[in-house]
Amino acid sequence: MVRIDTRGGAVAASLEDDVRSAVFSICDPEYPGVSIVDLGLLESVEIEGGVVEIGLIPTFSGCPALAMIADDVEAAVLAVDGVCEVSVSWLRSPAWSPGRVSVRGKDALKTEFTVAVQIGTSTPECPLCGGPTVEKSMFGPSRCRSVHRCDACTETIEVMRG
Ligand SMILES: [Zn+2]
Repeated sequence: MVRIDTRGGAVAASLEDDVRSAVFSICDPEYPGVSIVDLGLLESVEIEGGVVEIGLIPTFSGCPALAMIADDVEAAVLAVDGVCEVSVSWLRSPAWSPGRVSVRGKDALKTEFTVAVQIGTSTPECPLCGGPTVEKSMFGPSRCRSVHRCDACTETIEVMRG
């Protein structure tokens, strides 16, 4: 498939691909192995010459992991051939919501961390058995997560929500 027919355009397009895969290689420190892209943190990639601007969306404000994520993204993008300058910023809008988590991200959270993702006000399913869950505490480890208990297998699960 030919994307762009001018040489300059094609080079720019592949640079963007390289930058996006560099960002993809960064995982959330709280969920090792799950890309921040799959968690819905990447909002924008702008490239002008060799200068790259990355716009990320924080999942929870004040999370100490945010500084680490920004540093990791900056280092990874800076290592991409053709990039000479990188700036990473946390955007105030749009707001992060569980709907931004990709299918692959949801699967990884479910199978590796026993974390369910709640969309809207639906009852999250138990990641282990698929049974219905009941909220046990409004506030889990952080503001946007809560703790539920599965009715079927009695497992305690963490629910990520907006
Ligand atoms: Zn269960």
